[in-house]
Amino acid sequence: MDNPSSQPTVIPRSEHIISRDNISPNAVKVLYRLREAGFRGCLVGGGVRDLLLGREPKDFDVATDARPEQVYKLFRNSRLIGRRFRLAHVQFDREIVEVATFRGRGEDSEDDAGPSVERTASGRILSDNVYGGIEEDAWRRDFTVNALYYDIDKFVVLDYVGGMADLKAGLIRLIGDPARRYQEDPVRLLRAVRFAAKLGFKVDPATEAPLHRLGHLLEQIPSARLFDEVLKLFLTGSAIQTFELLRHYRLFGCLFPATERCLNHQQAHYPKTLLSQALANTDSRLAEGKPVNPAFLFAALLWEPLRERMRELRAKGLDETEALQTAADAVIQDQLRRTALPRRYSLPMREIWEMQQRLTTVSGKRPLRLLSHPRFRAAYDFLVLRADADEQAQRLADWWTQFLALDDAGRARATQPATAAAKGKPRRRRKPRSARKGAQDPSLHPET
Ligand code: ATP
Ligand code: MG
Repeated sequence: MDNPSSQPTVIPRSEHIISRDNISPNAVKVLYRLREAGFRGCLVGGGVRDLLLGREPKDFDVATDARPEQVYKLFRNSRLIGRRFRLAHVQFDREIVEVATFRGRGEDSEDDAGPSVERTASGRILSDNVYGGIEEDAWRRDFTVNALYYDIDKFVVLDYVGGMADLKAGLIRLIGDPARRYQEDPVRLLRAVRFAAKLGFKVDPATEAPLHRLGHLLEQIPSARLFDEVLKLFLTGSAIQTFELLRHYRLFGCLFPATERCLNHQQAHYPKTLLSQALANTDSRLAEGKPVNPAFLFAALLWEPLRERMRELRAKGLDETEALQTAADAVIQDQLRRTALPRRYSLPMREIWEMQQRLTTVSGKRPLRLLSHPRFRAAYDFLVLRADADEQAQRLADWWTQFLALDDAGRARATQPATAAAKGKPRRRRKPRSARKGAQDPSLHPET
């Protein structure tokens, strides 16, 4: 396989299960429009891979010999994106069909019509906008199973790199020399793990070996790209397996160093339980077609570092609220060195954390008022998550669960000290004096 062949294995219609009916009508439209304009267009990537596996593709990627600008001209509903890897997004309502121009061989000298492949001294590709033919394009893709093309005119699958055999064998295999391909683009380390987890595939030994030792290369990757990748890792339905594999290959710590430290040096099973449970919930929500929120995910991912910081600050004499604010600042700053975390997510994440303190007040007007807080639901869900591994959080979560089940009158009664103890009603928890006046949650401190 090290000798790029220009002749593909052609898998005829009778030997694969892809049919036009399974392809999104929008992707079909794009393919036909390209053809009408005299260009070649094939389906490629995850769409072909997933269809061949009988899975529903997340999205459809198209590869073509039309240049990005030509694609842009052809589709009014398109825009050009990416500097490193320029391509067109064709937008249909809520679906985007990604149209990429066939890439040529990176080693070649200047492409006469465009820039060359730009690399750092270590071989990392800074920009890859050298165009070529389909047979070269195949070899520039990441994994063999991602480099299968579906030709919609002839109904055939084209395989230049042995992807079909790997698909049948359930193998994730990098095309070409693994170490070199990871150096070129270290995000492939994460992609290997993501596809292995999502498809339940094994990573081929030669592709697997560098995973353990090349994680440090991720430090070179812009934090915004890593943030996008984190969302793909944890918000596409296989978060649990992905998390286990990332930890196995020591890649998780490259993305979340503070969390990794907590996981390692806290003997207790607690942090792993909370995070695992959060990831399991995320997977089941997605399986039920429910929305998932990156803010909630990050609140869970960074919860242990937050608690650890808070413990240190409390020991220095800061009160609960100050400790939380200062710790949240520090944890977010730290994390930003690895992955971006846009404010539209970090703000609600903070609110989920802050609400953990506010939820400890279970009498008076406050509980009722909290119900209408935009972050109440997420904060309550987060409390329930904590409850699994924390008895005090468990009692509090039980109180809120019962409270939510009451009607208005019941809720009013439940928050009056005199009636709070009535049977069947949420009970007020006996809290330390400090908590009563300052709405502080002793359960934020595992030792207390
Ligand atoms: P998903 O199901 O997540 O969409 P995908 O395989 O389609 O999986 P995309 O990120 O949509 O992944 O990329 C589409 C295709 O582009 C890939 O299948 C692969 O052929 C190619 N590709 C994407 N990223 C890289 C990369 N970093 N290096 C080489 N090829 C890549
Ligand atoms: Mg895709």
